[in-house]
Amino acid sequence: MPQLAKRMGRAKPSAIMVVAEKAKQLKAEGRDIISFSIGVPNFLPGEHVYAAARKALENDSGQYGSNRGSNELLDAFLKHIEQVGLTGYTRANCATGIGAKHVLYNLCEALLDAGDGFAFATPYWTSYVDIGEILDADIQLLPCPAEQDYKLTPAQLDAALAKKPKVFLFNNPSNPTGMVYTKDEISALADVIVKHPDTWVITDDIYNRMVFDGIGYHNFVQARPELRDRVVFMDSLSKTYGMPGWRAGFMVGPEVVAKAVTIMNSNHITNIPEIVTAAAVAALSGPQDVPDAKRAEFQAKRDQVVAALNAIPGVVCPVPQGAFYAFPDISVAFGKSHDGKVIANDVDLCNALLEAKGVACVPGSAFGEPRGLRISYTCPTPQLAPGLQRIQEFFAELS
Ligand code: PLP
Repeated sequence: MPQLAKRMGRAKPSAIMVVAEKAKQLKAEGRDIISFSIGVPNFLPGEHVYAAARKALENDSGQYGSNRGSNELLDAFLKHIEQVGLTGYTRANCATGIGAKHVLYNLCEALLDAGDGFAFATPYWTSYVDIGEILDADIQLLPCPAEQDYKLTPAQLDAALAKKPKVFLFNNPSNPTGMVYTKDEISALADVIVKHPDTWVITDDIYNRMVFDGIGYHNFVQARPELRDRVVFMDSLSKTYGMPGWRAGFMVGPEVVAKAVTIMNSNHITNIPEIVTAAAVAALSGPQDVPDAKRAEFQAKRDQVVAALNAIPGVVCPVPQGAFYAFPDISVAFGKSHDGKVIANDVDLCNALLEAKGVACVPGSAFGEPRGLRISYTCPTPQLAPGLQRIQEFFAELS
C-alpha cells in the first residue's frame, strides 16, 4: 500500500478538540457537563451581518472572487485597523483567508523553508506548533512561566533573535493565557526587534478588541513605525464578532508578504466565499455595539474566574487582561489524589475533573505549559459560578 507523506507523521489533531469531544460524549450519556474547553465567543453577530449575507445570496454573481479579497472587503479592513493605530497601508499590503488560522498557515508556508528557525513564546496557541511541525520548521520555544506573568521579556527576545530565526511569531492578547502587553512592554520588545533585521515578525492579534481595564491594545508598528517592512499583523472576525464558523481572517504587512499569501490563496482556495465577504464587510463597518457589550461582559466574568481560582490554596492565576481565557498554575495538585486516583500531571487533573465534577478544561501541556490548564469562560453566565464552585470543591477534596 502506498504511504502518506512524511509530514503526516508530524501532524496531529488539535488537543483542544480531543477534550471537547470527550465532554460532548459525556453530555450525550446524560451527564451534567460545564464546558470551559473550546475558545468560542458564544454570541451571534448583529442582524445587519445576516442581512448583508442574505443580500449577497440573492445577488450571486456566479463568478469566482479575488484571490486577495474583494476591494470592498480590503477597504473595510483597512478602515477597521485604523482604529488600532495601523494607518498608511493600502490594499496591496493586505490579504484575506479562510479564518486567521488559514492566513497564518499561508504566512508560514510563504516565509518558512524546512529547517528555518520559528520562534515563539510558551504557553502558545496549539496551532503554532502544529503548523511549524507540518512545515518542518526548527521550532524555538521561549518559556514564559506564570512567575513572569506568561510574558516575554526584552532580554529573552534579544537572546532568541540573536539566533536569527526566520520568523518570530507573537500573540497579543494571548490564547491561552489572556495576557496583554502594556504600551511600555510593546515598546521595549519593538526596540529589541529593530536590532535584529533578519527576522520576519508575525503578530497574531486577533483578540485586539477584547482588552480590559482600559489598558488598550498596542502593537510593534505603532511603537516603531520602521518595523512595518518586517511586521505582519493578523486579525479575524471569529472572536470579535461572534463569527467563528463564517471563516474570515486578514493580514496587513509588507506588500511582498501580502502578495505571497495571495499567491497561496490562488493555489489553495481561490477566494473566500462571496457570502462571507458580504457578511465580513457588514461586521467590520457596521455598528460595534455587540463586541463592545461583550467586552464588558467578559471583563466581569474574568473577575469572577480569577477571584475563584486564586481563592484555592496553592493555585496561582495571573490576572488576564484580554481575550476570554484564564490560565492558572495548578501544579500544587500534582502528586495528590482525588477519589483514589493519583494526579500526576495536568492531563490526569483534567480527566479527573471532567469525570468527577463534569467540568471540561484543556490541559496546559496542549499549550506547552504542563503546570497550567486553560479555562475558556464564555459559557452562559448562569453556568460560570457553578463551574467554578465545582473546581474549588475538586481541589478541596484532594488528599
Ligand atoms: N490565533 C489565535 C491566537 C487563536 O486563538 C485562534 C482561534 O482560536 C486563531 C488564531 C484562529 O482564528 P480563526 O477562527 O480566525 O481561524
